Amino acid sequence: MKYSEIMVRYGELSTKGKNRKSFIMQLAQNVKQALSDFPEIKIHAERDRMHLLLNGVDGQLVIPKLAKIFGIQNFSPSVRVEKDVQVIKDAVQEIMKEIYTGKETFKIIAKRSDHTFELNSNELNQALGNAVIDIFPDIQAQMKKPDIPLRVEIRRDGTYLSYETIKGAGGLPVGTSGKGMLMLSGGIDSPVAGYFAMKRGVEIEAVHFASPPYTSEQALQKAKDLTVKLTPYVGKIDFIEVPFTEIQEEIKRTVPQGYWMTITRRMMLRLTDEIRKIRHGLIILNGESLGQVASQTLQSMVAINEVTNTPIIRPVATMDKLEIIEVAEKIDTFDLSIQPFEDCCTIFAPPQPKTRPQLEKVHHYEERLDIDGLIERALSGLKIETIRPETTIQQSEEFSDLL
Ligand code: ATP
Ligand code: MG
Repeated sequence: MKYSEIMVRYGELSTKGKNRKSFIMQLAQNVKQALSDFPEIKIHAERDRMHLLLNGVDGQLVIPKLAKIFGIQNFSPSVRVEKDVQVIKDAVQEIMKEIYTGKETFKIIAKRSDHTFELNSNELNQALGNAVIDIFPDIQAQMKKPDIPLRVEIRRDGTYLSYETIKGAGGLPVGTSGKGMLMLSGGIDSPVAGYFAMKRGVEIEAVHFASPPYTSEQALQKAKDLTVKLTPYVGKIDFIEVPFTEIQEEIKRTVPQGYWMTITRRMMLRLTDEIRKIRHGLIILNGESLGQVASQTLQSMVAINEVTNTPIIRPVATMDKLEIIEVAEKIDTFDLSIQPFEDCCTIFAPPQPKTRPQLEKVHHYEERLDIDGLIERALSGLKIETIRPETTIQQSEEFSDLL
């Protein structure tokens, strides 16, 4: 049968007291954004649930998009029929014919929110259970954990039937926790860090450092492609490309090799923090993971972190590489991340970076740099682009062909 609506159950946000209303409004906005390819769908957000009226849109197209939106615990596609006992019986039989394979147990779970309806919930359970037994005399009804829980809800505008509960992405609606700047390289870790941040409600903007001609056009494209993979959770993400060539050349020219990495990272962090201020972000996010490489020893983190008081959240800091890879595969960024286009850090990587950089030396070498000037010039060359999900891009292209 054709779905007429999808009923969405909220996740954790139902426990958020007085913030609840703004959480629900944000979720409704995110759902609207994610489903912008289907303007026919109407969204009704209520206190406990959200109803998506499909208005003819194929539910199967909507389900995979909905499954990625944070803040949704689960959802049930449902069929709407008239509020007439015979019609409801027919619909129940039709659904069971479609899904019953001869083995499953079932239960009718009727609920009557329209109390003017002629049967109460018990009577409905009875009548509809019998309707199922009429067509499948051997079927077993089971009250506890039935294989097929067939929900029937009599509402003001009709009867809604559903038998499936699809797991949502959990988390909090993106945007309810404010905005963070994600330092996005082309590697495995930073996209995963971005995913986890969004899962906890943080809206992200991607900040990427590029050093052409030392880094290629492909390396930049890879970072943008990774951003595309993160957009289904939010609808769109602003991608900020930072020109980093001059800074890397300057560091290479004036600083001893052992300190290139530390000072490069400090410059990246200073710049990200300036961009954060301009873009009204609250925090910085990166993909650092403890002990992975020289820049990620605790001593390095301390030396790099010294340039800002802004909170830096490192969602994958304590995860093992294999655990990070598992998530990267799940969110489909892994294959892109392992493409061999070198980013600015690999190309300027000294043979032996200091794993325990000393702060006095860092300060001493940085005196040789015109830090303010370098930052100012990099900021004047920012390129900002709004990145959207793949399907939307294809559709808008098709659309422009028609014009
Ligand atoms: P990733 O897999 O995310 O690249 P990594 O294990 O390769 O991480 P590093 O290269 O040391 O580790 O980078 C640590 C973090 O610094 C990255 O996760 C990212 O947040 C940030 N970073 C590194 N290079 C860039 C870049 N070119 N642009 C933006 N951020 C960067
Ligand atoms: Mg990297």
